[in-house]
Amino acid sequence: QAKAAGRNALRFFDPTMQAAVIDCAQLEADLRHVIERQELTLFYQTQVNAHGDVVGVEALVRWEHPSRGVVSPGVFIPLAEESHLIGPVGAWVMETACEQLAQWARDPSTEPLSIAVNVSPNQFRQVGFVEQVETVLAQTGANPQRLKLEVTESLLMEDLEAVCERMEQLRELGVRFSLDDFGTGYSSLAYLKRLPLDQLKIDQSFVRDVLDDPADAAIVRTVIALAHSLELEVIAEGVETQAHRDWLYSEGCMAYQGYWFSRPGPVETLSL
Ligand code: C2E
Ligand code: MG
Ligand code: MG
Ligand code: MG
Repeated sequence: QAKAAGRNALRFFDPTMQAAVIDCAQLEADLRHVIERQELTLFYQTQVNAHGDVVGVEALVRWEHPSRGVVSPGVFIPLAEESHLIGPVGAWVMETACEQLAQWARDPSTEPLSIAVNVSPNQFRQVGFVEQVETVLAQTGANPQRLKLEVTESLLMEDLEAVCERMEQLRELGVRFSLDDFGTGYSSLAYLKRLPLDQLKIDQSFVRDVLDDPADAAIVRTVIALAHSLELEVIAEGVETQAHRDWLYSEGCMAYQGYWFSRPGPVETLSL
């Protein structure tokens, strides 16, 4: 492969591929300065219960690149993971979200809101992650019960024992856990009974065609039933229409997130 052949092999790539490689390297270089240049912002998307009340939000990071405009986390988070920059990016998100929680706690009308923060596998595994969360909670004064960490199945693929222990330590601080993108990973279901989870989050890829595709409908029904029998909360992401929401409701899913309710946006744009 090109990589095995060394750096010089780059010139044999076709032009578009070479452009993509250079682009990626440039983006990674820019990513190194993202914190000091204050180019990150946090968007929030509401999470709604069966009555239509907003019960919390998910924090979704955005990179406002000076020349490229907004870079999606789907692009730069994997890059940050590979280049060991996920530490500072993740820490910034955690701090910003906890500051927001502390601010909401000062008003009785926003006090009950929770914030779900996505945690990448390499961030979760970093030495001192538990202490970092503990320090941020202490410094901001945020209520740990209002902080929900979203982890993915990929985290559970390696060293389940260590992950489990770490989750227990965070649990002791009062922090809660949601399993994001549930059903898209490759891990076994056995871990579900071992991990201190509070919520399963049904992946949007299953929700999208739930009304037309009997296989997706069957998967979503099964996840809802699984959550109920394990006494976990269940939330559906990617809820884009009233029909999605009504179908999910009729199947027993009582929490929703998606464009039907709101698009992710800056905190000032939230209608809480
Ligand atoms: P995710 O955690 O599964 O987040 C849900 C994604 O679906 C978000 O994309 C959100 O904007 C989008 N979404 C919400 N409602 C709908 C809908 O109704 N329809 C459709 N089609 N999409 C919807 P976004 O913000 O681009 O984030 C993409 C992924 O990047 C996230 O997926 C998460 O894995 C990662 N990410 C975002 N913020 C962070 C962060 O602060 N830290 C880490 N480690 N990862 C993050
Ligand atoms: Mg998420
Ligand atoms: Mg998700
Ligand atoms: Mg997803």
